[in-house]
Amino acid sequence: MTATLTVAALTERGHGERRVALVPDTVTRLVAGGFDVLIEAGAGSGAFYPDDEYVAAGAKTDTLESVLDAADVLLAVRRPEPEILARLRPGQVLVGLLDARGTGRAGLDELVARGVVVLSLDLLPRTLPRAQTMDALSSQASVAGYRAAVVAAEAFARYFPMMITAAGTARPAKVLVLGAGVAGLQAIGTARRLGAQVTGYDVREAAREEVKSLGASFLATTVNVASEGGYARALTPDERAAQQAELSAKMRAFDIVITTAQVPGARPPVLVTAETLAGMAPGSVVVDLGASSLGGNVDGSVPDERIVTANGVTVIGAGNLPAQMPTGASAAYARNVAALLTAVVRDGAVDLDPTDEVVDAVWVRPAVAPSTEVAPADVAPAAVVAAADAAPDTRPEGE
Ligand code: NAD
Repeated sequence: MTATLTVAALTERGHGERRVALVPDTVTRLVAGGFDVLIEAGAGSGAFYPDDEYVAAGAKTDTLESVLDAADVLLAVRRPEPEILARLRPGQVLVGLLDARGTGRAGLDELVARGVVVLSLDLLPRTLPRAQTMDALSSQASVAGYRAAVVAAEAFARYFPMMITAAGTARPAKVLVLGAGVAGLQAIGTARRLGAQVTGYDVREAAREEVKSLGASFLATTVNVASEGGYARALTPDERAAQQAELSAKMRAFDIVITTAQVPGARPPVLVTAETLAGMAPGSVVVDLGASSLGGNVDGSVPDERIVTANGVTVIGAGNLPAQMPTGASAAYARNVAALLTAVVRDGAVDLDPTDEVVDAVWVRPAVAPSTEVAPADVAPAAVVAAADAAPDTRPEGE
């Protein structure tokens, strides 16, 4: 590569967010690959990456103002605040987990209409082998799953492993993980390593073998759906009622329940009802990874809050678990964005080829392509070459 493209990492300003989009190791690789790297001063401090390590790796650090001015490509973990988005200029490229599905899409469409080039990693095709190194949803879900098991162990008032001591024998904790995607499988593996007796469950029958390959048991119910591109579909009301009743009866036997069930673009399914919680033994712990302001997998869970029910069950709304392990989560995320950059930069310019499956998926384009659309050449600086024959994005919202 000959020309220099300036890529920059911004400070994450979201509540409780401590991750950063680039870490010094990745900076070294990007600089060696011919990029100029700019870091907003202090951007890595929440994840324990001081400015001087970035500088030693070949980056420059500067104020937000100067970074926004100089960067061709801005790297973020989460969507930057509206005040920052408002300052992006046509042709500048924004990369991140930008919440491009469902209701989050509208804000990005505005940005795109102003000529900002938006690449959102939450749109990446998950099962495409070439995309695996860029799969930030998986790298962060993996951190969340690991962390969920650790959080559960910390809140549990007994041992996870079987303990044989002079003071008696403690039986191992019984852990049930609901949802065996990336986070769920990591929670299963971590709880197993902590010595618990672990059972996994997923509505996708295909998850059974993956759960068993980790040495856990699989909980069977009569409600099973086929995978659609690896994802589960939302259940019908009848299926949901049957699933809740079957799970409720079985859940009482467990000390710990970790829930990780998600359906893309939809509210997480409720798997643990208030009645189920009321039937669990005092001292049980439930960690809800799906907890959100819209509701999660557990009735009444609140993000970032620990509630103890009247019958002594601790319900933990997980909140942003990757941000609680910011050094490791940022290192993995930075490798994901660096892999994406490598795939979209040629000869010192961002060169977006809509016939490339990865580009086609992550590139947020206008929902319609009217003939009055500004041609990329009119809005892009020299560093950005968006393919002129860009096909309109005809995907329905939320895809
Ligand atoms: P996700 O976060 O969307 O959902 C988590 C899990 O919840 C899924 O396994 C889903 O089946 C399950 N679920 C949904 N509704 C449920 C319900 N009512 N009851 C019980 N479980 C329910 O999933 P994810 O972790 O993002 O993974 C999505 C898929 O992509 C998985 O199949 C995963 O194996 C696959 N994947 C593949 C690759 C790869 O091939 N390289 C990489 C990443 C993910």
